[in-house]
Amino acid sequence: MIRENIAQTEEKIIEACTRTGRDREQVCLIAVSKTKPLEMLREAYEAGVRDFGENKVQELMEKMPVLPEDIRWHMIGHLQRNKVKYIVGKVWMIHSVDSLELAKEISKEAVKKQVTVRILLEVNVAEEESKFGVTVQEACALAEEAAKLPGIRVEGLMTIAPFTETPEENRIYFKRLKQLSVDIYDKNIDNISMNVLSMGMTGDYSVAVEEGSTYVRVGTGIFGERKGMVV
Ligand SMILES: *Cc1c(COP(=O)(O)O)cnc(C)c1O
Repeated sequence: MIRENIAQTEEKIIEACTRTGRDREQVCLIAVSKTKPLEMLREAYEAGVRDFGENKVQELMEKMPVLPEDIRWHMIGHLQRNKVKYIVGKVWMIHSVDSLELAKEISKEAVKKQVTVRILLEVNVAEEESKFGVTVQEACALAEEAAKLPGIRVEGLMTIAPFTETPEENRIYFKRLKQLSVDIYDKNIDNISMNVLSMGMTGDYSVAVEEGSTYVRVGTGIFGERKGMVV
């Protein structure tokens, strides 16, 4: 089942790339495995997935040591400052940096461990009350300040688009995030690259790929529905 789901997702990513003249190599599929048991992650791994996304530090800590070492773990959920120390040096990338305070904490921990942490700035493009992330207006200042910190590298932007039945509705938000990344890139800030755009989930990743996404985060579309209210 998981293997077929991955194949189908791949297919759709390829189609979106083809429609817009993009290279499939520019898009990485992250299997969002939060709440899912290890067997399911192993199945996805066997099917070739190497990028996994989790949104809770505790769950990451449990899953990481028992799964293959060549997995790239992506922290995609809201991160509390007091939990930063557990994941710095262990995850491939932190997608959810939404404040300078958090960036500073990651920097501090990175310096201590002598590593460089790849981070993305989370932008609440649609300005939904329920979501984390800075506004489009705040993003540039955050990028400039975060870029000055040692031990971290700002590689791009991330957004969680509104939940919708009609993915076309989210196109405007993906376009806005892409434009924002271009605007920040054009400022020529030292120590920043804007190569990464983490946008698109099960409901809307085709549209996100058409609009320039480089990381799509697909949970339900690979592992099936999650039980309960886990955002
Ligand atoms: C859960 C989650 C996803 C995956 O959502 P699906 O709709 O199941 O694909 C993607 N990104 C973030 C930040 C998430 O928390």
